[in-house]
Amino acid sequence: MKSRGIFWHILVSFIALSFVMLVGMATYAVVVLESMYYRSVEEALLSQARIIQTRVLPLLERNPEGIQGVCMDLKSNGVSRVSVIFPDGHVAGDTQEDPGVMENHAGRPEVQAVQSGQGHGMAIRKSKTLNIDMMYVAVPMIVEGRPAGVIRTAMPLTLLLDNYRKMRLRILAAAGAMLLVSVLLSLIVSHRISRPLMTMQQASQQFARGDFSLRVHLSGSSEVESLADSMNWMAAQLDERISTIQEQQCRMESIISSMREGVVALDYSNLIITMNQAAARMLGTSVEQATGRMLEEVVRHQTLCNLVSEVRGGRDMPESNVTMYDASEPRNFQVRATPLRTAGKRMIGVLLVLNDVTRLRSLEKIRREFVANVSHELKTPVTAIQGFAETLLNGENDQETINRFLEIIRRQTGRLNAIIEDLLNLSRLERDREHGEIQMGRFSLRKVLDNAVQCCRHEAERRGMSLEVEGGEELKLDMNAELMEQAVVNLINNALKYSDENKTVRIRAAIERNEALISVTDEGFGIAAEHLPRLFERFYRVDKNRSRQMGGTGLGLAIVKHIVMAHGGRVDVESEPGKGSCFTIHLPAA
Ligand code: ADP
Repeated sequence: MKSRGIFWHILVSFIALSFVMLVGMATYAVVVLESMYYRSVEEALLSQARIIQTRVLPLLERNPEGIQGVCMDLKSNGVSRVSVIFPDGHVAGDTQEDPGVMENHAGRPEVQAVQSGQGHGMAIRKSKTLNIDMMYVAVPMIVEGRPAGVIRTAMPLTLLLDNYRKMRLRILAAAGAMLLVSVLLSLIVSHRISRPLMTMQQASQQFARGDFSLRVHLSGSSEVESLADSMNWMAAQLDERISTIQEQQCRMESIISSMREGVVALDYSNLIITMNQAAARMLGTSVEQATGRMLEEVVRHQTLCNLVSEVRGGRDMPESNVTMYDASEPRNFQVRATPLRTAGKRMIGVLLVLNDVTRLRSLEKIRREFVANVSHELKTPVTAIQGFAETLLNGENDQETINRFLEIIRRQTGRLNAIIEDLLNLSRLERDREHGEIQMGRFSLRKVLDNAVQCCRHEAERRGMSLEVEGGEELKLDMNAELMEQAVVNLINNALKYSDENKTVRIRAAIERNEALISVTDEGFGIAAEHLPRLFERFYRVDKNRSRQMGGTGLGLAIVKHIVMAHGGRVDVESEPGKGSCFTIHLPAA
């Protein structure tokens, strides 16, 4: 049930208080008035009796019959009923009736009161003669110290009661009017007291909703004013503190969300309470989907869940490696799980920090493979040189064999030199690219192509092959002409190496959709589709024997790729076994 407001409480209390006070006052006034009325009538009857006493006393001894005459005289003067009673109760005179027929009055309560020694007696009862309520007052008559009779005066109470009732009505009417006025006043007072409270209540509700812009302005009592001031101060303080907290939270969130590491906070029941974008990306979910759900629901990975259980069980866990197999390829994570504790060191959950080391692992793998490849590539010529040199040292060879062996040693040394030269080129390229030290200038593309063709012309002629250059006359590009020339030379050399004699190699330059294209097309052996994705890796060869035979190092295309990347471009290949290949360099030409 909805409790009533303070306005009603104050109003009802005021009205109840006024009602009780007014009813109390009115009752008291009515009671006092009634007793005053009776008292004044009694006093009047008493003084009348005393006055009459002075006329009756002299007659008591000398002329008792004359008493009735005095009574008749009093009647004619309009005095209220008077009776004179002897000590034995016989009526000596009466203003209303013949005393001879009146019964003995010794039993009347007012007479008995006088005879019992009281100063006077009073009684109210219905008169048998007049059949109305009367007040009787009796006073003793004393002659020479002895009771000589009683004088009784009486008055009908009808008029008195009428007056009393009228007065009572007036009092009640006045009380009613005062009650009305007090209700009105109560309304005003309740309103005045409750209004500031209601204003403050509304303000506090607004504060509770988080809106601290409101300020309470109240006038009235000093307490209300100081309460309003306190509320305003409190609102300003809360506003400031909440803003600080929000700012801190914002800062914290932006720190967490801008972290490259994935952060997941779990509560005591494994429910995800916070997660950053990086973690969501790593776990293949979204922050909105994952927050508020169990870790096991979001990540179905036993190792990760076990790790959390271990930390929850109080074990201090080192960094763990976790591999996840999602839809695409396996991803490697380094996961650190630590307990989440309050300032009082109570554990309230677990914090997971995930580091995506997939790229690192693959780089490590590439490095390992590279070292193995380099060792292998270097070992082959070194072994050959060593073998032939030892054979020569035996000194039992004829001149022809010696010459043949020396030629092999020379070839293998050249090969060794070529590999080392290419490796140095590659590492120089990588270093210069990293440090932004590749010198760029504006050069004619056609000039670069012509220079490259010029370099390869001799080899082409030796193999009876022709080189055709086309386009690029008008094209000028920002590039390092020397490196670009080397890239094109590598492609032309490959085209010559992996083609039969008498074929043609076409070198073209063109502009297509903001890109400058350099393509080298041959009519050679072509490359099977499965090799194409790995063709630009270091030491990757399709036809190992031919490559070695032709003096290839397996690094030519890797060098092309790095040169093109240093120019912000890319290189791709289209090939069909038996028909030929087309290598295309794409360079930005904005
Ligand atoms: P290499 O020194 O062995 O030529 P590259 O990096 O230049 O090394 O080329 C890698 C491999 O790609 C070669 O060994 C060869 O098998 C293949 N290849 C390169 N260019 C061509 C081409 N034009 N036609 C056919 N195969 C090619």
